[in-house]
Amino acid sequence: MAAARLCAALIFAALCFLSHVTACVFKYGTSPDSLEAPHAGTHWDHGLNGDDWTGVDATGKPWACMSGIRQSPINLPNAETLKNRGSNIPDKFRTRWSYPTIYSNGSNVEVINTGHAIQIEWLSPFAADVAIVVPARQDSNTRITSVLGMTETDQATTVKATPLQFHFHTVSEHLVGGKHYPLELHIVHRVTDLPACTAGCFSVTGVLFELTQSEDNPFLEAIWAALPMREGAINYLPPDAEVRLEELLPPPSSREYVTYEGSLTTPPCSEGLLWHVMLKPQKISMAQWTKYKTAVGYKDCSLKNGTASAGNVHQHHHHRRSLAAEEATGNAEDYDCKVVAYGYNYRASQRLYGRAVRLAALT
Ligand SMILES: [Zn+2]
Repeated sequence: MAAARLCAALIFAALCFLSHVTACVFKYGTSPDSLEAPHAGTHWDHGLNGDDWTGVDATGKPWACMSGIRQSPINLPNAETLKNRGSNIPDKFRTRWSYPTIYSNGSNVEVINTGHAIQIEWLSPFAADVAIVVPARQDSNTRITSVLGMTETDQATTVKATPLQFHFHTVSEHLVGGKHYPLELHIVHRVTDLPACTAGCFSVTGVLFELTQSEDNPFLEAIWAALPMREGAINYLPPDAEVRLEELLPPPSSREYVTYEGSLTTPPCSEGLLWHVMLKPQKISMAQWTKYKTAVGYKDCSLKNGTASAGNVHQHHHHRRSLAAEEATGNAEDYDCKVVAYGYNYRASQRLYGRAVRLAALT
């Protein structure tokens, strides 16, 4: 009966079969090794694709997910439609991306299974340079999304956006002309050198992936080889592995993108973000897609007999998080978890509410 009590204590809204004490089935984000701290705001998952996201953050502030009118993702018009509407952004106002290669030394690049997505973070400086256009004269009201309202004759300069992490969603969160893609990469950047952004503004770059019947995408290989299949697990990229983020974007000559003002696509769904979504999809193999769906899949977890044993998945306390299971039982590795079904971690498309959507066309 101890297992049943532990399930009840640990799981907020999981499918926990209390009548069968040997096993519980968990949706990702809810299993014993979820990274979420027990009191860090309302629990959430992708089970209803965000349609049930009412809750509060760690400070008690309500999420913007259901009340906001500038939410992401959205269904993006295709390039032809935007051109016909005259929604092009002047070429001189384009955002420019430059991501040098991240070199792993075996302990500076983390691949994290957050329970909501697979996320990559680096623990060493990364001299990436993303330049976003803002008006030449700025004041405390100048927003990072100003470029969406600028016209040909405006005087402009740029501010720098620094990448913090990147992660993936399956299926894609943004649609193009009503169509989903199998995978979407999000590179999350922080902007600080704008008066209104001293506390931080965010800009996210989205890259869509389509399936290819042929080889694996070589620029995903190192990350995919290190994908932690258990929630809460963190793998380091091995020494000499490289993350060539630049190569995960379309080549510079093909960076046609759609830009608009939106939100984080997970709670608390904060707004005021400048989104860029590349229209040219990149490639992912069926085997790579399958592995990702497994990593974010449904888990069947049972309490191990006897004392905790060391698993074969490298795991450690992340400096910014605590493991819920460890708070309750002392060790997440008291559990054996198996993936029993593929998972999906996307939010459903949100209403546009008349927002401007602009195209940075190829030149
Ligand atoms: Zn995302």
